[in-house]
Amino acid sequence: MYYNDNTFIFLNGEIVKASEAKTDLYGQTLHYGYGVFEGIRSYKTSEGKTKIFKEVAHFDRLKNSADALNLPYNWDNDDLIKATYEILKLNDLQDAYIRPLVYAPANMSFVRNSESFIAIEAWEMKPFLGDELLSVMTSSFERPNPKGFKIEAKATGHYVNSILASQEAKAKGYDEALLKDMKGFVAEAPGANFFVEKNNVLYTPQAGNILPGITRATILEICNRLGIHTVEKNITLAEVHGADSAFFCGTAAEVIGIASLDKILFRKEWKDSLGRVIQKEYKNLVTEKQKQQKLETVS
Ligand code: PMP
Repeated sequence: MYYNDNTFIFLNGEIVKASEAKTDLYGQTLHYGYGVFEGIRSYKTSEGKTKIFKEVAHFDRLKNSADALNLPYNWDNDDLIKATYEILKLNDLQDAYIRPLVYAPANMSFVRNSESFIAIEAWEMKPFLGDELLSVMTSSFERPNPKGFKIEAKATGHYVNSILASQEAKAKGYDEALLKDMKGFVAEAPGANFFVEKNNVLYTPQAGNILPGITRATILEICNRLGIHTVEKNITLAEVHGADSAFFCGTAAEVIGIASLDKILFRKEWKDSLGRVIQKEYKNLVTEKQKQQKLETVS
C-alpha cells in the first residue's frame, strides 16, 4: 500500500530502496514512542508542476519538535527539501503525502542520545478523512496534558492518544473524534485542528493545548485576506453543539466539513458555510490556481 519493490526513500543522507532499508529493533523510538515526524503534502499545481506546500514551515517544525524532545538534529532544511523533491521524482509522485521521521538509535535507557536518524518516505495521497461531510463524536479521551508532554511537538508517542480516540469513534459508528483538553475545552481531532462558525465568525481553539497546525495558520491567513472575522479562544462543547457549521483542517485532511457533533446537526448547509469558502480557497492556494489566474489576468 505504501511502497513496492521500486519505491525509493531518503535514509540518512542516501536514497535507498524502501524494501531494502533496515531499522534497529532495539531502537528507543520503537520501544518508547520517542521520535518526531512531519506530515507534508505535495500537489500537482494547475500548471502541472510538483509543489510541496509550505515545505519550510514543515521542516522548521520537524527541527523544533526534535529540539523540544532533546533529539539531536543536524540536518539542513535546503538539503532535506532537495532530497524530498528527488524522491517525489524518483517515485513518479505529484499528489503525495510526505513523511519525514526522526528516530533514535538503539537505547533501552532514558539517557540522551548523541545521534539521531532520519527517513523521508512519500506515497500517493488520497483524502485522509474522505471528502464527505463527517459525523463526529466528542471523545472520551482528552488530549495529552501539556504539563506531561511537549504538546507543540509532533512526537510519535502522542499519537497513541490519537489512535485510541479515532478507533473509539469508528467503533461507535462515527467518522471521527473531537477531543477536549484537560480543562474540558474543545481541542482538536486526532490528526487535525478544529474551526466552528457562529454568526459569521470563525472560532478556533487557542494555542496551548493543541498542535497549532500549519493548515490552521494558513486558514487564519486566508480569513484575514478575505475579511472573515476569526477568534482564537477557549471553546466549550455547549458553544459547538448546534452552531452554524464546523470543519476540521490539517495537511492530510485539508478542509473537511462536519455534518454533526454527537448527532446534533450544524444549522447551515455546508455549501452555504464559511468552511466551504475556505475549502475552495485552500485548494486554490495549494494547487497555485490563484497564482495561475493572476498570471492570466496580467498577460
Ligand atoms: N492536530 C494534530 C494532532 C495533528 O496530528 C495534525 C496533523 N499534523 C494537526 C493538528 C494539523 O496540523 P497541520 O495543519 O500542520 O498538518
